[in-house]
Amino acid sequence: MSVDPTKPYDSENIFAKILRGEIPCNKVYEDEWSLAFHDINPQADVHILVIPKGDYVSWDDFSAKASAEEIAGFVRAVGHVAREQGLVVRGYRLLGNVGRNGGQEVPHLHVHLFGGGPLGPMLAR
Ligand code: 5GP
Repeated sequence: MSVDPTKPYDSENIFAKILRGEIPCNKVYEDEWSLAFHDINPQADVHILVIPKGDYVSWDDFSAKASAEEIAGFVRAVGHVAREQGLVVRGYRLLGNVGRNGGQEVPHLHVHLFGGGPLGPMLAR
């Protein structure tokens, strides 16, 4: 079911459980602000999810309410992971789904980081 980004944060969502260590993940990076791990159902050769550690439903929530430190920490983490994974020279794609039209399924902000080969058209229509 799609996420309603106007609803309050649900601390029982799957990424909250991953952050609390209740569910395992294939971690690629962690720092004070963010966690990055491989998507369980990869849509590209490289498909990593980067999430902030704070309780934010979506990009909408995060961009409105997060502190400058949280935003900077998260953005830097996304860039760091892309560099660390060797994706910069050949390029990569970031995707953030918000709500129903965006197809967001997990109600904790996440950025998809895709790479490892040509990624095709921006949107399948
Ligand atoms: P959304 O559609 O919300 O932007 O993307 C959610 C993503 O989370 C999907 O790509 C899905 O494969 C991934 N996902 C869902 N549950 C899990 C999980 O338990 N572990 C991991 N690593 N990824 C998950």
